[in-house]
Amino acid sequence: MMKKKANTLLFSHKISEWYLNNKRDLPWRASPTPYKIWLSEVILQQTRISQGLSYYHSFIDKYPSVNDLANAEEEEVLKLWQGLGYYSRARNMLEGAKQIIQTHNGKIPDNYHELLRIKGIGEYTAAAIASIAYNQTVAAVDGNVSRVMARYFGISEAINTTPGKKSIKKKADIVISSKDPGTHNQAVMELGALVCKAQNPDCLHCPLSSECFAFNKQLTNSLPHKIRKTNKRERYFYYFIINDKKYVVLFKRTKNDIWTNMYDFPCIEKAHPLTIKELSDDGDWQTMFHDAKVTIEKVSKEHLHILTHQLIHAFFLHIEIDNLNDLPPSFLIAKKQEAEGLPIPKLIENYINSTELLKVEF
Ligand code: SF4
Repeated sequence: MMKKKANTLLFSHKISEWYLNNKRDLPWRASPTPYKIWLSEVILQQTRISQGLSYYHSFIDKYPSVNDLANAEEEEVLKLWQGLGYYSRARNMLEGAKQIIQTHNGKIPDNYHELLRIKGIGEYTAAAIASIAYNQTVAAVDGNVSRVMARYFGISEAINTTPGKKSIKKKADIVISSKDPGTHNQAVMELGALVCKAQNPDCLHCPLSSECFAFNKQLTNSLPHKIRKTNKRERYFYYFIINDKKYVVLFKRTKNDIWTNMYDFPCIEKAHPLTIKELSDDGDWQTMFHDAKVTIEKVSKEHLHILTHQLIHAFFLHIEIDNLNDLPPSFLIAKKQEAEGLPIPKLIENYINSTELLKVEF
């Protein structure tokens, strides 16, 4: 019992000291503000620092404050976010910024529970902002932190289950330093990212190794436990690309689905793949084009696009059409130069780049 208590105290002391000597020089750390912490945490939840930094800089340059973000157009924000994925996070952050202007006079709330009421701020981000910007003692727990906790304290429940998450959070709230909770939280996150990595943790250079359960029991390869989740939803997208020298025909996705309010091509979706015959006979796309006379010129090979819970099988059909004016009004007929400024999903961006589709022909 005494040993357990000692480990708990040592944990915060050692890890905070290690952090102060080893932390990376990141732009939001030099002068942390609640807004910068919020933005950095949202970006880093979905990408590595090396990729996320350029997005962070573009965002801060364009929207230096929560007020600037709140006044932004959603399309502009999505365009800036393009390539990062999880576009709902960008939309939610924009909504959250507006909420802060309307209900908090533009000041990001200074406590964990108020922060949780802001759109786009979940438990992890609320804890990060509350502890780093406002010195509140609340543990921020993400995947990196869960891994460190499970290994150091020998927590055997699967960290991606509700009981496992509860155990980790409970332990994390016990060990956090009330003297400097912001440093403590950043230290655990940083150790998880740099030393206690998922594969091949660098235990020999870890400040926690002498008391670490997993290291001392040689269990670093088997902790943390995770329940394997499979079963991605498979979707088959058939995109229609209209060959035109100056214009590109796009479609704004407005349903509550992936890529809401971003632009892709007119599309029909199927739950199963279609043969060429089934495709040419299909009534859905004929309905979609209403009166327009359409000829399918060629069909691309399959393009796979993997999302967290979905696997998209995309096919691009290049078509000829008699008259662009016959197209339904729900389609956007955009000049190619203008289309470059619109937010589009990575799958579509990759296809456009590989086919030089937006090149204007004279
Ligand atoms: S000793 Fe190894 S397993 Fe334990 S916390 Fe450090 S890096 Fe992780």
